[in-house]
Amino acid sequence: MQTKESNTIFSHLDSLGKSLDGDLSYDTITRTIYATDASVYKEFPLAVIWPKGVSDLKKIIAFASKEKTSITIRAAGTSLAGQVVTNGMIVDISRYMKNIIEINEKEMWVRVEPGVVLDELNMQLKEHGLFFGPETSTSNRCNLGGMVGNNS
Ligand SMILES: Cc1cc2nc3c(=O)[nH]c(=O)nc-3n(C[C@H](O)[C@H](O)[C@H](O)COP(=O)(O)OP(=O)(O)OC[C@H]3O[C@@H](n4cnc5c(N)ncnc54)[C@H](O)[C@@H]3O)c2cc1C
Repeated sequence: MQTKESNTIFSHLDSLGKSLDGDLSYDTITRTIYATDASVYKEFPLAVIWPKGVSDLKKIIAFASKEKTSITIRAAGTSLAGQVVTNGMIVDISRYMKNIIEINEKEMWVRVEPGVVLDELNMQLKEHGLFFGPETSTSNRCNLGGMVGNNS
């Protein structure tokens, strides 16, 4: 059952969604899908957001601060200990923020958005004779942002 308070937050979420370049959803199916990761934990998130860049992220952070709710960034969701399960807002960076921005072959570094999949990065690095070190079992799924977050 929706209370007066929950109706208010959902109308505020509608306003946030309209201001974003990316997408926002709080329908029951989406929230159910995002209620778990690869762990056994389950929690129903308030909403799921797919940002398209830094400008969206700033708006989401300002919204969370004003509405006193939380943000959990989700990459591939392969965490095993409930890292991307929350009753606040899930911010999924794997849909749009997955560009490899720059490969510096000479100095051997890359600049990427956090949603780049490890195997996809290494496929591109191979052409330059390079390889990004950490070899997680989930390399065909996990994203660079999630790997950093988990210290993979
Ligand atoms: C079968 C299996 C095998 C695995 N094997 C390994 C292994 O060999 N080695 C290993 O280290 N791990 C392993 N894992 C765990 C997991 O796959 C890795 O930790 C993986 O790197 C997580 O990446 P992800 O993209 O799924 O991150 P997610 O699970 O989506 O996120 C991980 C953490 O990072 C945070 N995060 C994500 N993106 C950002 C961002 N942009 N900014 C700030 N925080 C962010 C999240 O909030 C969360 O706390 C395994 C998991 C499974 C299911």
